[in-house]
Amino acid sequence: MTPNPSPRGRFAPSPTGALHLGSLVAAVGSWLMARRRGGDWLVRMEDLDPPREVPGAAERQIQTLAAFGMTSDAPVLWQSRRGDAYAAALEPLLAAGLAFECRCSRSDLAATGGIHRHCVAGNRQRPAAIRLRVPDTVLGFDDGLQGPQAQSLATEVGDFVLRRADGPWAYQLAVVVDDAAQGITDVVRGADLLDSTPRQIFLQRQLGLPTPAYAHLPLLVDAQGKKLGKSLASIPVDPAAPKPALLAAWRFLGQTGRPFDDAGPVESALVRALAHFDPQRIPRVLHATIDAPVSGAAGPT
Ligand code: GLU
Repeated sequence: MTPNPSPRGRFAPSPTGALHLGSLVAAVGSWLMARRRGGDWLVRMEDLDPPREVPGAAERQIQTLAAFGMTSDAPVLWQSRRGDAYAAALEPLLAAGLAFECRCSRSDLAATGGIHRHCVAGNRQRPAAIRLRVPDTVLGFDDGLQGPQAQSLATEVGDFVLRRADGPWAYQLAVVVDDAAQGITDVVRGADLLDSTPRQIFLQRQLGLPTPAYAHLPLLVDAQGKKLGKSLASIPVDPAAPKPALLAAWRFLGQTGRPFDDAGPVESALVRALAHFDPQRIPRVLHATIDAPVSGAAGPT
């Protein structure tokens, strides 16, 4: 009998700006869920798309996490350095005809709402993306927070991109390869990625990789229902004053008490919080707002 792998969670920010409260919720949620089972917690930097990245943001995010008492238990994995691993994963899919070159443009797919079922572009002279062919099946999984999920890969997703025509590796391939390479057993992240999960599970099956457990945290939205990370209300958290933002994230995750109140170091406050952490209290909803502005957050940038 193979022993169960030891629990291991991760946080995978994209270095597109400062850490804000929405990303802090995902960081703290994944940290608490991993640590409560005595597991490791790893940081992976999703630096796959240089034009979207802000120079220095990745290093600042790592420093901010440290100021919040969270450091990766293994060296940070940088996706920009993982091209060989992604190419090695893609190769057998191409050889088996499961992945294929596609020159369809966005407008070619407008008639099907962007969903690719077969190429309509022909062999025109433009760089090709690589897509993964999906079958006409419904893929279901049980989310640890959001309950049973099901998605029709053919009608809701379509053949999806593994490598973009302009070169970068797609998030979907990179996340699947790296969750397996890092031995991640528990993926805890924002509910905006709930509908990416069936295609990630499908890709794991095609590659013969294990499927971790998934739990999708409610997404922090502003009063207008916009994802905080994309709205004016998106304020970076202040690494010089971590406790108010930690308390806000703690409350947002449905937790009670005031474990961050005393004057000691933030690391011991987080460990103290862990003793009171109850995953059953996390709201099982897709979106939630935060009642009060977070004192201690830096001003808007
Ligand atoms: N980089 C994604 C984000 O910042 C997270 C991806 C993941 O956790 O799989 O929302």
